[in-house]
Amino acid sequence: MENNHFEGLTGQIIHDEIVPARAPWIYPVKAGETLRIVDLEGNQAVDFLVYSTADDAERYSAQDTIAAQANIFLRTGSVLRSNEGRPMMTIIATSVDYHDTIGGACSCESNSLRYGHHTKAQHSCVDNFLDANVREGRGKRDMVSNVNFFMNVPVEANGALGIVDGISAPGLTVDLRAEMDVTVVVSNCPQINNPCNGFNPTPVRMIVTA
Ligand SMILES: [Zn+2]
Repeated sequence: MENNHFEGLTGQIIHDEIVPARAPWIYPVKAGETLRIVDLEGNQAVDFLVYSTADDAERYSAQDTIAAQANIFLRTGSVLRSNEGRPMMTIIATSVDYHDTIGGACSCESNSLRYGHHTKAQHSCVDNFLDANVREGRGKRDMVSNVNFFMNVPVEANGALGIVDGISAPGLTVDLRAEMDVTVVVSNCPQINNPCNGFNPTPVRMIVTA
């Protein structure tokens, strides 16, 4: 079972880490290296931001990514683009049908609005993003719209969004090749009020190969 998580990866493993349920993660991935994210137990949303390591004013842009590929979902071959339109990372493989670009990150504000004031103190992805980013001097103004790997946000014919049961499963993966030196910032989503984590946040695995 353990070894299945490495299936299809080439090159030398230079980092291998389990991110606990609800935790943040930050890691530099150099150009040409590949980051594999493993959804260990299934249906675990991985909120994901990426910054240029050379100049973090250049960072992932949902708008540029969606416009360039003319599609709102991320699949094998999708290129994550920066606010300058440059390729940052390419999804070179994924065993999940598609990933979300528009659902955003959960916060105490959105939780309170959607699920009631009693959820205000619950841990959120915005907390995790700030926790990870502040280690490198980034703050709230550096938060932008994020990718949600392993999260299912279908768009209805009338344009309505859903946050519904996931389409991921235990052991499914997404592989991202860095096209420039990047800093990856992740929130292993702690949400417990909707099905994005199957109401049970679980660990994910990060494997980097060079
Ligand atoms: Zn979240």
